[in-house]
Amino acid sequence: MKIEKIEITRPDCMTSAQFVNAIVHMDVDLSDLLPYLNATQKEARYYPKHPFINFSWGFHKVVIEANQIRIIPFEDEKAAQEGAKEVVNLLLEIESNKNEIVPDISPYDPPKVLDIYKLLPKLGGCSECGFPTCMAFATALINKEVALEACKEIIDNKKISVVKLKEVLGV
Ligand code: SF4
Repeated sequence: MKIEKIEITRPDCMTSAQFVNAIVHMDVDLSDLLPYLNATQKEARYYPKHPFINFSWGFHKVVIEANQIRIIPFEDEKAAQEGAKEVVNLLLEIESNKNEIVPDISPYDPPKVLDIYKLLPKLGGCSECGFPTCMAFATALINKEVALEACKEIIDNKKISVVKLKEVLGV
């Protein structure tokens, strides 16, 4: 497995953006490696039908599809070049340890809004989280538009299980 090319891009709609993305073109199709990444990487979301996967890598997001790896964001081109090589090293390490990893072929199953809503304080829409209702907050949590901590009641109310909420959200 080798790097063919590393492209550094800025988001299309933001040519003056302060950050850049890296697209790594590999010389092989990485699809066979995705179940191993699904088994080992934090917050991995595997979509076997396409197939592709995304996961968190530090503060970055990594998306892998066929022979392409996208990593976002980096502060500049140098950081993007270095980060791209580190992610490829991670893949090489997983490739060489495949015999010790049980691959996970299960597709990403997104949490349901109602399952999250049931675990929220449901104070009748106090709106302190910045959303008009707990249901709207639950939707925003699933879309990763807000952190759990935005609802202070979740943290302060001992009857609310942060652990359970995190488990259902998969974070
Ligand atoms: S702050 Fe908490 S209790 Fe209030 S609306 Fe938002 S999620 Fe519901």
